[in-house]
Amino acid sequence: MKIAFLGLGNMGTPMARNLLRAGHDVTVWNRTLSKAAELRADNGKAANSVTEATRGAEITISMLADDQAVSSVVRDAGGVLESLQHGTIHVSMSTISVALSMQLATEHGKRGQHYVAAPVFGRPEAAAAAKLFIAAAGDAADLERCQPAFDHIGQHTCVIGPRPEMANVVKLSGNFLIASVIESLGEAVALTRKYGIDPHEYVDFLTNTLFDVPVYETYGGIIADQRFSPAGFRMRLGLKDVRLVLAAAEGVDAPLPFASVIHDNLLAAIGRGLEDLDWSATAKLAAENAGLNQFE
Ligand code: NAP
Repeated sequence: MKIAFLGLGNMGTPMARNLLRAGHDVTVWNRTLSKAAELRADNGKAANSVTEATRGAEITISMLADDQAVSSVVRDAGGVLESLQHGTIHVSMSTISVALSMQLATEHGKRGQHYVAAPVFGRPEAAAAAKLFIAAAGDAADLERCQPAFDHIGQHTCVIGPRPEMANVVKLSGNFLIASVIESLGEAVALTRKYGIDPHEYVDFLTNTLFDVPVYETYGGIIADQRFSPAGFRMRLGLKDVRLVLAAAEGVDAPLPFASVIHDNLLAAIGRGLEDLDWSATAKLAAENAGLNQFE
């Protein structure tokens, strides 16, 4: 399949690599062009512009930081809207707002282009192992056309519904749940440490009993190890997602009081200079609030 891949960050690079290794004909583009060099060994073709990347592509995948990045790559002169051929598909896999996703569906539709939202669950390690979970929404025929690409990016594609923004709501609500787990794990680890319980033994206990699920294993391990750097998911991206879920909730009068707590904790962590760490480093705040400044 001829694919254009836009955005080679922590997630985009391994996703594009897996598509290349599966034999797809992939042309990549990134704002910082030099990042494409990482894919040379896998025969990745690097484009100097979005227009060049999308030329002849059946589908164009974008995996960019946030709304601002997606809006600029799609809407600016020479961007995706101007470049995509009639009938081809833009697959937006970034975590973006519900509002932007709805706008993109309309804007692509007006030009006879197709739009699918397919945000993912899983961190860069899962992306490298092609083990992401893909929440996809859009026209059924479009989703079917994208499936050969999804098959080499993720371990499972879940079709959420016919309207693209439905996938964005599911992704944002899922990240709200992950952020809630991180916050409660950070607090629980701080509490048990105050009683002299080893954090690794505590997390082992949790993940071998009632909490035997990936989100507790992943974040329990990171928090017990204090493995917050290099950031797999940057603190500012975490804050972005909590803002987006609050905006989605406000749009339909559905209060999320705990999301507001998490929002302020992420802000506090950034205010204290933890911005370059993984978003789970909010667990450091929980430890500090309990008077535990350092892990031994
Ligand atoms: P990242 O490592 O920070 O990479 C961000 C990408 O966006 C880079 O390619 C960057 O280009 C590009 N970019 C940023 N601003 C731009 C702009 N104004 N114009 C053009 N390109 C721009 O982020 P990531 O971790 O790969 O995440 C990508 C998306 O996936 C985000 O929406 C994130 O929320 C979501 N996500 C992340 C994870 C995770 O664990 N990391 C998991 C699931 C979903 P440069 O290289 O030029 O800076």
